[in-house]
Amino acid sequence: MKTWPLLSVALSLLLLASGCSAATTTGGTGRLNVVVAFYPLQYVVEQVGGDQVSVTSLTKPGVEPHDLELTAKQVASVATADLVFYEKGFQAAVDSAVDTEKPKRVLDAATIVPLRTTPGFTGEGTTPSTSALDPHTWLDPQTMIKYASAVAEQLSQVRPASAAVFQQRADALVKELSTLDSDFTTGLAHCQLTVFVTSHAAFGYLAERYGLEQVGIAGLTPDAEPTPAHLAEVQKIAQEKGVTTIFSETLASPALADALAKDLGLKTDVLDPLEGITAQSRGNDYPSVMRSNLSALRTAGACQ
Ligand SMILES: [Zn+2]
Repeated sequence: MKTWPLLSVALSLLLLASGCSAATTTGGTGRLNVVVAFYPLQYVVEQVGGDQVSVTSLTKPGVEPHDLELTAKQVASVATADLVFYEKGFQAAVDSAVDTEKPKRVLDAATIVPLRTTPGFTGEGTTPSTSALDPHTWLDPQTMIKYASAVAEQLSQVRPASAAVFQQRADALVKELSTLDSDFTTGLAHCQLTVFVTSHAAFGYLAERYGLEQVGIAGLTPDAEPTPAHLAEVQKIAQEKGVTTIFSETLASPALADALAKDLGLKTDVLDPLEGITAQSRGNDYPSVMRSNLSALRTAGACQ
């Protein structure tokens, strides 16, 4: 019986604490604390949430997101977030943090745009298997448009008083992304060459959307090492199709792409999978880096 008073004190402290946090975040006017898994999701939440959100990305700028590991502090941040936006099936450490920490509100990007296998030659010799689901949905601007609406809906549920503001900001983002999408459509409509060679096969959704064909040197992850047979096959396709450019990227090593380009006497250029923004990125946000990608694809494909 002696423990009861202590227990009730602990309980009231707990209630007080949860009451406080509700007052400073969801119910009040402070910034909503949103944890996102990686850059493109961060971009959407920042654009839609504006000054009403404080966004923390679990993948720090410059860190390659595929094999992400989380610190204990990062895992704890998942537990206390007002909203967690991630893509189930992409980063095992994030999937596991969401499972164990059970944040109060979760938005899974793969429920907005389901992951699928994407067409394009990634080779038999790459590991993991090419039948794996492709996580790079964000490289299709139409996917980002769907994310914008879903984020506005989630933020509005957390803070209904600001629903109109979130919707207005989402509408502006959708407008910008729709312009980007139509610029890709027109910019890639008349190309001499529709095949492009990339280091890791991140551009399957983009290629499919705009009628291009991707040939990956590595597989769906940058560290999936190609076999000599696969490299020979990529060389063969590049020569047969008259490829002019071998693309590498900003976060992963360009060694393979450089070596292949040197062997074939071809140019190299950067195609950015937007898995993070750094000082080396050709642009400072999603639309500007995507426009650099468009420009690089147009040059490589000799598009009109
Ligand atoms: Zn990737």
